[in-house]
Amino acid sequence: MYPVTIEFLIEKCLKYGMRIENIFTNANLLENTRGVVNQLIEAFDLTFYVSVDGLYQAYDGFRGKTNAFHDLCSGLDILEGFDAKLFINVLLNKSNLHQLLDIYTFMKKYHSFKRLRISNGFNLGNWVSNRSQYRISMEEEISGIKELIRMWVKDGKPCEMEYGHLFRHLFGQTYLIKDIHYTKDSLCCEYYKNVCVIFPDGSVTPCGLTYPHYVCGSIHSDSLAQIWNSPKMRKFKELKISDLSIDDCNECKYLPMCGTGCRGKALLNGKGYLDIDDTICSLYKHGIYDDFESFVIKEVINESV
Ligand code: SF4
Ligand code: SF4
Repeated sequence: MYPVTIEFLIEKCLKYGMRIENIFTNANLLENTRGVVNQLIEAFDLTFYVSVDGLYQAYDGFRGKTNAFHDLCSGLDILEGFDAKLFINVLLNKSNLHQLLDIYTFMKKYHSFKRLRISNGFNLGNWVSNRSQYRISMEEEISGIKELIRMWVKDGKPCEMEYGHLFRHLFGQTYLIKDIHYTKDSLCCEYYKNVCVIFPDGSVTPCGLTYPHYVCGSIHSDSLAQIWNSPKMRKFKELKISDLSIDDCNECKYLPMCGTGCRGKALLNGKGYLDIDDTICSLYKHGIYDDFESFVIKEVINESV
């Protein structure tokens, strides 16, 4: 979090009646920006999304910085002190898969911890250079997630949980992707239709996964309203499944669940944002999703009835 940028943002947002909803941070620099954090919390009802990609040396290793985990803990303590709402992001990979239960247990001691969000690697940030070394298979990933879900259920579901697009437990309800029922008229990014993302360099994108390949403008040169209403942003936000016309998907029985996957991932995996998302596609076509869904129904949904 860079103080000048954040202060600039707060000032602009307050001036134009805009709202900041979320701050994504690794929390490593919060010690130096306490004043800004306080200002943000007082001005907006916002949520801090903090990346916790491991504990102790695993975290330092993934960040490539000694004492990074120590700095993260200081940041978490500051947010706890301000009673901020805290969502934790875990990017699942080879170095932290075995620590997943420990990360969850570690976070439970913070009363501001409200949601655990787990995703797999994508071609962004540190992950670009770490991908080949830390990548895990979908099978390994799902096996780790199942263990975590079992522990979380046993604990009485003390926080909300999101696992990519496949599983969500939000506001006391469990959602599986099969509940969505995409049709060809559905928006590709329904979940994010009213949100955009501002990056530290001022770039504005439809979603975090489309940076830097699909940038709709910069707050240094345009107003947020101009960027939000720009043809490029509108094209992404109003994109429907029928606009994609991917041959493989047109007659596929999984389309109502998969919705052709994630446009950002298609982009980051080297395809165009209108092309197939290979990661999601293999999940369905290899039966991995069906197995996971049976697990959730048995261990989470039926368990609560
Ligand atoms: S499973 Fe693959 S082919 Fe079928 S709709 Fe999804 S992305 Fe398209
Ligand atoms: S690009 Fe992917 S992550 Fe971003 S809003 Fe669309 S589906 Fe969600």
